[in-house]
Amino acid sequence: MVIFEESKRGRRGVQLPESGVPESELDVEDHLIRPEEEPGLPEVTEPQVVRHFIRLSRLNYSVDTGFYPLGSCTMKYNPKVHEFIVAAPHFTHLHPYQRQEDVQGALRLMYELQEVLCEITGMDAFTLQPAAGAHGELTGMLMVRKFFEVRGENNRRKVLIPDSAHGTNPASAVMAGFEVVEIKSGEDGLVDLNELRKNVGGDTAALMLTNPNTLGLFEKEILEISEMIHDAGALLYYDGANLNAIMGYARPGDMGFDIVHLNLHKTFSTPHGMGGPGSGPVGVKAFLKEFLPVPVIVKDGERYRMDYDLKHSIGKVRSFYANFTVLLKAYAYILSMGGEGLKRVSQLAVLNANYLKTLLSRRYKLKYDHPCMHEFVLDNEWLTKNLGVKTLDIAKRLLDKGFHAPTIYFPLIVHEAMMVEPTETETKDTLDAFARAMFEILDEAERAPEHLKEAPLTTPVSRFDEVAASRHPEVAYRRKEVAGS
Ligand SMILES: *Cc1c(COP(=O)(O)O)cnc(C)c1O
Repeated sequence: MVIFEESKRGRRGVQLPESGVPESELDVEDHLIRPEEEPGLPEVTEPQVVRHFIRLSRLNYSVDTGFYPLGSCTMKYNPKVHEFIVAAPHFTHLHPYQRQEDVQGALRLMYELQEVLCEITGMDAFTLQPAAGAHGELTGMLMVRKFFEVRGENNRRKVLIPDSAHGTNPASAVMAGFEVVEIKSGEDGLVDLNELRKNVGGDTAALMLTNPNTLGLFEKEILEISEMIHDAGALLYYDGANLNAIMGYARPGDMGFDIVHLNLHKTFSTPHGMGGPGSGPVGVKAFLKEFLPVPVIVKDGERYRMDYDLKHSIGKVRSFYANFTVLLKAYAYILSMGGEGLKRVSQLAVLNANYLKTLLSRRYKLKYDHPCMHEFVLDNEWLTKNLGVKTLDIAKRLLDKGFHAPTIYFPLIVHEAMMVEPTETETKDTLDAFARAMFEILDEAERAPEHLKEAPLTTPVSRFDEVAASRHPEVAYRRKEVAGS
């Protein structure tokens, strides 16, 4: 339903006073004169507008309405106080073309955020420019490329990426002009050092690694991995989209990583999803500082300014000051949590994940049954084999039970994967309720597996024909003709 369908001639939401401006005698060129016909706007009353949009908002599932255990995506509750802070007029009324002298406060906040991100990650310099995680990866990979160009090592064309990696990793490497070499994970879900050794060499530019990886497992041999990559003259790249597993406990900089990207919109208090504004700052070790995109925010004495003068900069990757309000929310979050608070975030994220994993493992099967970090992966292949019930069916049935489904069919190395990330902001009661729902579904699967194929039954739209939807997508809404409109 679109609001145009509610339109009836003559209905009004607002009454504007008559214009008090006299008509102009000026000779105005024809094409500048407003056309006679009215713009095609809907004619509706104020209550209609309110009801329309409230109704639409209720069709959405969100972190503010329920549990959202989407693995890898970190859909956690973010304190509303940070929204109030960024909505203050002294921030929202800033203009990107204002003189740097007049926006010293904003520059200072960005400078301090760069500093604090260095501290959290163990890196030496940060750019706040990239607008998302994938954008940060691309920025990082372009820096890797430039670094080897400057050194005259143009033969380094390969980027190694474990098969458990997020899909954006290989995409970013390819966009930056590299060839991707997939590294097979070992039986334990971790990087197989022998596989890595076989593939690393004089043509390797970098290894892109997520730690903990997307299976929620910490790469224990990270120091050996780091040594192997550096001995080969290559760089080590850290996908830090999900820092809430290790904040305050371990730093990628100390593990030997040369470049890091963070997803402020996952770990640091920005609600995301539906393509909303993100931020993927990239941190580097000192020897890569000159390669950062411009501008970086620097401090000269008591003044802050944007520095465009970096010797080997890859150039600009984003307009103006990047997603300033996302940066601001992240900084407000970091300050309000404090060092101990951020550590507590990691503790609770890992505790919640392990609690839920242990509960579910009473009746579900785990692909890798070790203690996990912030997320874990169920493997439902046994259900598919025994009862014909797929992970997709369980995910759809969860919607009927009032929960958002976890991430499914990712990582790709687990065929009937269900990747659960409860996050640090959920109570034990919520986790228990989710586990109960999962067990109810299992009971239903045992009783009448064919019913699960029909789920969801209670949502605004029921099961899609996903094949038809992807083969013949019909993305335009066909408006109903409304009488008298
Ligand atoms: C979300 C995510 C990304 C990509 O971040 P976007 O902001 O969605 O581009 C990359 N890697 C991992 C591990 C992620 O979870």
